[in-house]
Amino acid sequence: MLPRKTKKIAIGKVVIGDKNPIAVQSMTKTKTSDVAATVRQIHALEQAGCQIVRCAVPDQASADALREIKKQIHIPLVADIHFNHKFAIQAAESGVDKLRINPGNIGDKNKIKAVVDAAQAHKIPIRVGVNSGSLEKEIKAKYKGHITAQGLVESALKNIKILEDLKFKDIVISIKATSVPVTIAAYKLLSKKVKYPLHIGITEAGIPEVGIIRSSVGIGALLAEGIGDTLRVSLTGDPVEEVRVAYEILKSLELIEAGITVISCPTCGRVEVDVAKIARQIYEKTRHITKPLKVAIMGCEVNGPGEAADADIGLACGKGVGLIFRNGQVVRKVPEREMVQAVLEEIERS
Ligand code: SF4
Repeated sequence: MLPRKTKKIAIGKVVIGDKNPIAVQSMTKTKTSDVAATVRQIHALEQAGCQIVRCAVPDQASADALREIKKQIHIPLVADIHFNHKFAIQAAESGVDKLRINPGNIGDKNKIKAVVDAAQAHKIPIRVGVNSGSLEKEIKAKYKGHITAQGLVESALKNIKILEDLKFKDIVISIKATSVPVTIAAYKLLSKKVKYPLHIGITEAGIPEVGIIRSSVGIGALLAEGIGDTLRVSLTGDPVEEVRVAYEILKSLELIEAGITVISCPTCGRVEVDVAKIARQIYEKTRHITKPLKVAIMGCEVNGPGEAADADIGLACGKGVGLIFRNGQVVRKVPEREMVQAVLEEIERS
């Protein structure tokens, strides 16, 4: 899986595109005008490893809050603006690190030029965010009201051209649809037509139980093709969960090594201990650890020792006892009640 070669773009201190690591981002769900609540949520996101954060700017109070929010956070801030070019200009002047707009809904050419001038003056990029929910009427009509990959790409290219005609090329693009197959097809098509870095995700993916799966399938399929320079998992829920899921997707595809990866067997009729409980306890107690380690929790002596030995740290359970492996070697034999503690001690020692 070779990453697609894209243009390098700096979003504050985070550089995406070219061969840079895929950056994880999220979006606040507080009222942006409530500075204290928004900063609190951004700090929680920073703690979870979020690298870029976006805030919606739907009104004047939100635009006014950006400068103060920016002062109190440590990761790049993106202002998400629709329709109102004045908010975009104010955001640039307030020190945000990127603007997310849709040039098509900002207004006439003079208004777009004013936004581009502000982005240029403050040396910040613009993300063209095409979304199936806000596709231009004429493109929708051309495809008989259907959201198609071709339609989304046409919209993206049209919006990019507006910026390029103004000699602006510090561009990131997203082209999200609620349909997973349409999103995948659209990004694949777009990736053949432009060299700008792509922000990937499935829009309105749903509540976590559904959205995590839809996002993992869609984002995973794209990343597996080398497409995607930054990503956001969109969930109807806690944004910290979005970040956690984003890292799990990147870890699953071995695109990053970060934190503890707990693998565990599905269990079957051979199991003699509560593997689900042990694996969950170890997962919960090691979520704060950033060092990359693979920990295997296996239920019996059939596949247990082999898989456990393949991990950095492994637990192969038997009837009332477990063997602890470290780098393929058995280092301890412990009774069932001490299994979790023994694995945690080995993790601490690593
Ligand atoms: Fe069953 Fe053992 Fe495989 Fe777990 S490791 S699924 S208990 S055979």
